[in-house]
Amino acid sequence: MTFSLHGLAVSRGIAIGKAHILAHEDHDVRESLIDLPEIESEVARLRAAIEASAEHLRQMRDRIPINSPHDVAAFIDTHLLMLGDPTLAEEPIRLIRERRLNAAWALRNQRDAIVSVFDQMDDPYLRTRRDDVEHVMNGILRSLQGVSLARTAGAEDRLQGAVLFADDLAPADALLMQHHGVVGFVTEFGGPTSHTAILARSLGIPGIVGVRHARRFLQSGELLIVDGNEGVVVGEPDQRTLAHYRRRQDERARYSATLNKLRRAPCVTHDGVTIELQANVELPSDFAAAREVGAQGVGLYRTEFLYMNRPDAPTEEEHFDAYQQLVKAVSGLPVTIRTMDIGGDKQVDPALTARGKGANPALGLRAIRLGLKEPTLFLPQLRAIIRASALGPVRMMIPMLSQVEEASQVRELVRGIQAEFSAQKILFDPEMPVGGMIEVPVAAVFADGFAHVLDFLSIGTNDLIQYSLAIDRVNDEVNYLYDPFNPGVLRLISMTLKAGQKARVPVSMCGEMAGDVRCTRLLLGLGLDCFSVHPSVLLEIKRVIADTDAGVVRQLAERAIKTSDPVKLRRLLEEIG
Ligand code: PEP
Ligand code: MG
Repeated sequence: MTFSLHGLAVSRGIAIGKAHILAHEDHDVRESLIDLPEIESEVARLRAAIEASAEHLRQMRDRIPINSPHDVAAFIDTHLLMLGDPTLAEEPIRLIRERRLNAAWALRNQRDAIVSVFDQMDDPYLRTRRDDVEHVMNGILRSLQGVSLARTAGAEDRLQGAVLFADDLAPADALLMQHHGVVGFVTEFGGPTSHTAILARSLGIPGIVGVRHARRFLQSGELLIVDGNEGVVVGEPDQRTLAHYRRRQDERARYSATLNKLRRAPCVTHDGVTIELQANVELPSDFAAAREVGAQGVGLYRTEFLYMNRPDAPTEEEHFDAYQQLVKAVSGLPVTIRTMDIGGDKQVDPALTARGKGANPALGLRAIRLGLKEPTLFLPQLRAIIRASALGPVRMMIPMLSQVEEASQVRELVRGIQAEFSAQKILFDPEMPVGGMIEVPVAAVFADGFAHVLDFLSIGTNDLIQYSLAIDRVNDEVNYLYDPFNPGVLRLISMTLKAGQKARVPVSMCGEMAGDVRCTRLLLGLGLDCFSVHPSVLLEIKRVIADTDAGVVRQLAERAIKTSDPVKLRRLLEEIG
């Protein structure tokens, strides 16, 4: 009989295939004590398993298809680094030698101890690190026990066209899924910000995570449908259900083919208004994907990754290298480098700042506030951005502004560095635009004040919505309140756009709302003419823009902004579509 299970959709699309269930990770860990003479051979076995895991990853990295996203190699390199760390084996070796645990048992104990420390933290970045630790340790365990997705006998045949089910999947498994022709995946655990989910999205494999207790209901070999749009797994589908999902798959395939034709097409609305479409990137290598889809520049380059996973601050040269790579990669297109947005949901090694997180990190010493207090973190970055401006059209963007003075202080620092560079004959662009993010509600209300001192503004809806609606963006319990259509939020966006128009200061949007197709027509209606979005959604946004009559949605949006009648507002939003 047809049944459905629900989870969190993390990678869009529909997959239909036979279930392939991966063995439970922990089932085979035998808890046995070893004899004295076996100690050194057990230690050697553990070391060999670590090396085998590393070798396996190295081979996988060498086989990465040329068209794979660049972050695939970066994920594998992170895991290789962990495997190369000599402290990884220290505690398990002590357990083998002193308590005579067998290697798998000793390793599992240490994995559980580390993971439980991470489990007590509720920071999403640290949680991602927890997943990395777990995946690396599980990889060694599999090597010790001789089982893995890669080494399952005849795996390639059985995985071709299959829907993979596992407790959790490592980023490396996501890559193997692509190699083996897996069409979709379902896991019991994991979250939308896990590296595996991010990779699956980049690789275009539909997937659902967090389908708790699914193992009880699923059987290997039975037909499954993964609806990666809605987060639904359908088991044993009847003919009607199957036909429905096949139709949706065909529609999606036709739609993707049409989208690809838009890559080089100009971005204009149906009634001829030109709109700018830029890309959000995090790693310089992400820009390959952005260029593929014809982005007109980088509207947001998040630089926090430069500060992560290290106990010391990045040097001016490290910053400059990263910016130089990006500017070269985009050859002539504008690049918006956002200065460090550390703090809040983007925590770094505590050794870097020696300041506590505070009780409410999102309201604490984050982004520009931290930058102005910690010149050793901030100034090398400013200097590098200014130097990079000599290489191409670079713009500097300041995150989380709440006072105009913060923007003025940064401009003052920029002027000081430029004067020093002039004296030292170091090249830079004296006209480099300096802009700011509008992501704190008061900055939207006072956008005219910010437009007065800045060269451009960019609306960060992720934070603007978080701060306006008072919902922690990483708290699962209140995520349901996250609503880009909230009338108050729409008014804040509209105020910012109008202030920009009046002051003739360009305003773009780089928050997730810009890449949400449900909002595109409304944003055009509010007067947004520059969207910065993830490369994977750029063509879809372009398609909606091409189908929209800007004149019509502007009139409707203007009425929507003014009305205080919720029923009328809903009707107008529906009409905008
Ligand atoms: C935003 O807040 O909308 C934004 C783009 O910045 P981040 O998501 O990096 O905080
Ligand atoms: Mg933000």
